[in-house]
Amino acid sequence: MTNYEGIGTLKLECPQMHPVGRILKEAPHQQVVYDPGAQLGPRRFWPDEEDQPRFTIRCRQCDKPVSEATSTLQDKHRNLLFNITESTETATLPFV
Ligand SMILES: [Zn+2]
Repeated sequence: MTNYEGIGTLKLECPQMHPVGRILKEAPHQQVVYDPGAQLGPRRFWPDEEDQPRFTIRCRQCDKPVSEATSTLQDKHRNLLFNITESTETATLPFV
C-alpha cells in the first residue's frame, strides 16, 4: 500500500470528440474539480450530489446531453492519480 496520490486530468469528450470539460486535480492537497472550460463557467467541486449516480453534461456543439456513471469516471480519474507516468487521459461520454 502506498499513500502516494498525485495529480491527474481526465479530459471529457462527447462521441463526436468535442471537448465537454475536464475532471482534474492539479496538486496532491487539492480537491478534485470539474472544469467546464474557461469561457463556460467556474470550476467546481466534483462530484457534487447532483452528479450522482450519473454525471450528465451538455455538449454545446452537438446540443445534446452526454452522460456517464459517476463511479466509472471516478475510477478512471483515480487510476490517473496513482499513475506516475501518465497524468492525462480522455474519456468519451455516450449520448444520453
Ligand atoms: Zn459534441
